[in-house]
Amino acid sequence: MGTLFIIATPIGNLGDISARALEILGQADMIACEDTRHTLKLLNYFGIHRPLTSYHEFNEEEKAAELFRKIETGTNVALVSDAGTPAVSDPGYRLIRLCRQKGITVVAIPGPSAAITALSASGLPSNEFMFVGFLPSKKSARREKVNALKNLSCTMVFYEAPHRIAETLEDLREILGDREVCVARELTKIHEEYLFGCLSEVKGRVKPLGEFVVVVAGGVEQMEESVDLSALSRKEALKAIADKLRISRNDLYDLLFKKE
Ligand code: SAM
Repeated sequence: MGTLFIIATPIGNLGDISARALEILGQADMIACEDTRHTLKLLNYFGIHRPLTSYHEFNEEEKAAELFRKIETGTNVALVSDAGTPAVSDPGYRLIRLCRQKGITVVAIPGPSAAITALSASGLPSNEFMFVGFLPSKKSARREKVNALKNLSCTMVFYEAPHRIAETLEDLREILGDREVCVARELTKIHEEYLFGCLSEVKGRVKPLGEFVVVVAGGVEQMEESVDLSALSRKEALKAIADKLRISRNDLYDLLFKKE
């Protein structure tokens, strides 16, 4: 049986390709890619000449089966996408899953991904985050999706196209509130730019050109309404705290006032 290699490629700067990616691309029996012309440019730049085959969102299903059969009979296939990490908002998932289900070795060669690049440089909390990817293009579906994210407290990462960036920032502001955002444009390329601030303010500064990652701060947990202590009797205060701690008033009383 052959092996399926998942190979991350640069998102702009060709210097970001890894030594291991070059080594495996140079040895693969076949390279499956989204757009053969696009990948050919990358391979020519590095002097790699291997057979290419197209695997993209419109032929993913039948091509996954075809590639799987080749791997099963001993072909080593390297999977790349136009840029970044395959299967991250890109084709790959079907073939990878098929190989996993049939016990074929799958090896990932890590490297660039626009989401992680933007998140790591955003200055927003990154120990916990949600990768959302592209929001739906239809306005009602997009707003519904954003609405479902409203109560998340972790940082959120979106991909967006230039013709929709302004509208998406406005939808995010309207639904999530005027949160902090980092808009990363043209990462690792000549016109790389990070805009940081509140959604309302960044929206006015963004140039709708190039590729975008939008990193949005999570929601702050809402504080419960504070209690007016002067309006509470001791009994009511004990009950409120006991309810909150889900213990009985007697246990709470003992805990607070009983001598050891
Ligand atoms: N698999 C890729 C990855 O790992 O980053 C993502 C592929 S997805 C089809 C393409 C989207 O990624 C673009 O529309 C943009 O939102 C984002 N993207 C890719 N390269 C980028 C770059 N250099 N700067 C900013 N965003 C980028």
